[in-house]
Amino acid sequence: MIDWCYSTASRCCHCDQRACFPDERTADRFVTKSERRLVSFACPVGNGWHVIYPAVELKASVPRR
Ligand SMILES: [Zn+2]
Repeated sequence: MIDWCYSTASRCCHCDQRACFPDERTADRFVTKSERRLVSFACPVGNGWHVIYPAVELKASVPRR
């Protein structure tokens, strides 16, 4: 069971309003649940942990010429 709710999580203004996970364990539960399509990383400004969906987000954020 996931007791932490993504939609009500606080957002990190440093990381594109990404949801803040309180710790790595919680973030990793989402990674596992996504069948490891998500990747977790520690917030560079100390707002906990975030998850990223590289297959979607990196493609979107790196414009092709
Ligand atoms: Zn952050």
